[in-house]
Amino acid sequence: MKVFISVDMEGISGLVRWADVATRGIDYPRNRRLMTEDVNAAVEGALAGGATEVVVEENHGVEDLCNLLMDEIHPDCRVVRGAGRPGATTMAALDASVGVVLLVGHHGRAGSFPGIMAHTISYGGFKLVRLAGEPIGEADFFALRAGELGVPVGMISGDQVVAAQVAAICPWVEQAIVKEALGNQAGNCLAPVRARGLIEAAARRAVERARAGALGLYRGVVPPYHLEVELRDAIADDMRRNVTSLAGFSIVDDRTIAVEAPDMALAFRRVAYLGYADRPGVTRH
Ligand SMILES: [Zn+2]
Repeated sequence: MKVFISVDMEGISGLVRWADVATRGIDYPRNRRLMTEDVNAAVEGALAGGATEVVVEENHGVEDLCNLLMDEIHPDCRVVRGAGRPGATTMAALDASVGVVLLVGHHGRAGSFPGIMAHTISYGGFKLVRLAGEPIGEADFFALRAGELGVPVGMISGDQVVAAQVAAICPWVEQAIVKEALGNQAGNCLAPVRARGLIEAAARRAVERARAGALGLYRGVVPPYHLEVELRDAIADDMRRNVTSLAGFSIVDDRTIAVEAPDMALAFRRVAYLGYADRPGVTRH
């Protein structure tokens, strides 16, 4: 069975504040190692659970989505990284050949409190992203895309908030809660070396259960999708010009943009575009 691991940084063991996951942070170089070790634990668990192939895809938007330490990555996986990927942005390697999706180091959706570094796609720009009127996060995009492809989401690692949010839509999901969120930039953390044991065990159980056909599919919302991105600031002139020139986007009010998409791959890509659509003349997405 082929296993797809999406790795983000905000939900990695031991990390609680924005400076932990940004280039300028004093601990960022060390935290890349913590991220790599959480991934390696998931790969090890997946292989122990019967995975025959493991693909890891980086989802953290710092340093052009290259945050793992490639010289320390588990030898028995491949890694998809870097910006400008074809297809569904950071789900480029997620297709129907995958047997189960594991979400490692993911975080709660925008608007969550507590929720360590909770946001949806854009760190500073998006106040809320709604699908069919309900707030959603990155884990929801992954679960919906996986559901479209007939692939279950089998595991989540991160804080208790993202774990509960994923469990609410995928009640079969294995949870590795590596830290308890106390706010948006504070948490009560397990020692990463212990947390890795939880991640490895959860990944193993997820793959074993996937192989046994014991996981479900999430198909919570039926396409075509109607999303709304509520910005923190009023829509700037350049963004307005860019967005109104493109199909699939419309202005709702001075800080809300509606996005229509036939599938979650394009929905994810279009919402991600709004994170940089304020650059003059940038209409490629
Ligand atoms: Zn991230």
